[in-house]
Amino acid sequence: MSVRIFDIRVPLGFPEENLLARVLLIIGVPPDQVENFSVARRGIDARRKGAIRRVYTADVSLRSSSLEEAVCSRVASARPHRAAPDPFPGTPVRPPPVRPVVVGAGPAGLFAALALARSGAPPILLERGRPVEERSRQVADFWKKGVLDPESNVSFGEGGAGTFSDGKLSTRIGDPLVEHVIGLFAEFSGLPELSREAKPHVGTDRLRRFCVRMREELASLGTLIRFGARVDEVETGEGAVRSVRLSTGDEIPCEDLVLAIGHSARDTVRMLLARGVRMSAKPFAVGFRVEHPQGLVDTIQYGKMAGRPGLPPADYRLAARAPSGRGIYSFCMCPGGEVIAASSGPGEMPVNGMSAHARNSGFASSGIVAAVTTADFGTGDVLAGVDLQKTLEARAFRKGGGEFGIPAMNLMAFLKGKDRNLSRGKALCPRVVRANLAGILPPRVEEDIRYGLERFGESMRGFLSQEGTLYGVESRTSSPVRIERENYESVTVKGLYPVGEGAGHAGGIVSSAVDGICAALHILGKYSGQRTG
Ligand SMILES: Cc1cc2nc3c(=O)[nH]c(=O)nc-3n(C[C@H](O)[C@H](O)[C@H](O)COP(=O)(O)OP(=O)(O)OC[C@H]3O[C@@H](n4cnc5c(N)ncnc54)[C@H](O)[C@@H]3O)c2cc1C
Repeated sequence: MSVRIFDIRVPLGFPEENLLARVLLIIGVPPDQVENFSVARRGIDARRKGAIRRVYTADVSLRSSSLEEAVCSRVASARPHRAAPDPFPGTPVRPPPVRPVVVGAGPAGLFAALALARSGAPPILLERGRPVEERSRQVADFWKKGVLDPESNVSFGEGGAGTFSDGKLSTRIGDPLVEHVIGLFAEFSGLPELSREAKPHVGTDRLRRFCVRMREELASLGTLIRFGARVDEVETGEGAVRSVRLSTGDEIPCEDLVLAIGHSARDTVRMLLARGVRMSAKPFAVGFRVEHPQGLVDTIQYGKMAGRPGLPPADYRLAARAPSGRGIYSFCMCPGGEVIAASSGPGEMPVNGMSAHARNSGFASSGIVAAVTTADFGTGDVLAGVDLQKTLEARAFRKGGGEFGIPAMNLMAFLKGKDRNLSRGKALCPRVVRANLAGILPPRVEEDIRYGLERFGESMRGFLSQEGTLYGVESRTSSPVRIERENYESVTVKGLYPVGEGAGHAGGIVSSAVDGICAALHILGKYSGQRTG
């Protein structure tokens, strides 16, 4: 055990090597009683613009446990701390008679495969897209020339949807596995400090490194990885999984099938529905992506201290509720990043945001989205949300000139209805097309987005600026369907484990990874009676 001290506030320029001395002052213990000391978290508190503070959490082990207890009882900000146990105890199970199959090499699939492989049940991992090196070239081609590969793009391929992203690892789930997942991202992306950041982000450049390292790790544990292997059919018998059929024509027998297909595999979802996999329509959110010069956001958030050394590019989080009752909020905010065209099929233009680890593009963007529910979908069809997404993305595609151009509009022109030039921006796509974004979203949703933007202009003075640009359409915020499950297993097909964002049970990189691990531990539990050694 150690003592964890929270909320240690120091000025921005405070040298970290002096932190131990500060901690000893707080806990009132002499230096010779310290056995071990480490930074657990570091962050920034910019709520008071004139007095921005660095905020630390630190762990200290003392020479005696009674002294540790005494410190915890007398220091309000000190608590006993135990490191999270490793979720992969390493005592291998006897491999299941039929190798588990994992579909999708996004965070959910990769971490499920790792959990299985590290416990002696290396799976077959099937991914419709290409390995990250090839995929990165394909995505660069798409952004440059508008050449889209519907099987390998921003949504599909090794690493999944999050590879071309900011790689924010923040999550609200309080699962002990979170620390483990972030630890692996830190190790495999070559960013050891990541585990100590209050707001860890990997960046797309390092996520690609993570993918390669994860692939090596999985292969070294006996995982069979196949790229360009789209699952087109799940064969069942007596209500249980029997095999999967691939786009290559191959059939692979399986009894444990982890389905980690993400929020954009509409063809696969349609197939599953036809196969009797129970699912339901699920609320998600749609809107636009707003972009500002990073310097403007820094000034708004940091005031006079903007530009000081040690201050990262500023971020923001905004939320409002419209008179209609609908929630409007900022989504996937990317400081120092780019707006990206995120199409995974012809005739559609969803946008999103991405940044490199350095976050140094000079621009900040975020989705400004409004919640949509089944009431907005127009029909009770299970896939009505998917159809709504497709409709909005097709409208944006047309407004963008029909060759994967992104339609864009000056923020103030959108709000004031008076035409204005586009401000300078940074979008990765074949072209940015100045267009009127009105009419892309359903009228009531558009009205609420306008309401939200006005409120954000009040809560974040300077947000409503001529230098702001809106891009359409932000539509892949989460899955429009939920695949029904109990204990991670489909309620209608035995041996089928729908996980991650696509299954509607997680949102974001870390919670999807945790969901994948939990399903794998569930599968391993079936064979644990057969553990060896
Ligand atoms: C541009 C962008 C930026 C984002 N930024 C962030 C961020 O900063 N932080 C954050 O937490 N989240 C972010 N997200 C969300 C995050 O990426 C997802 O929540 C996460 O990737 C979901 O993981 P997953 O494994 O469930 O699905 P995915 O990552 O979507 O992976 C699913 C995989 O399954 C494969 N697949 C689908 N169908 C089949 C099939 N039939 N056969 C074989 N393979 C198949 C796909 O090709 C894909 O590789 C972002 C998403 C995007 C698109």
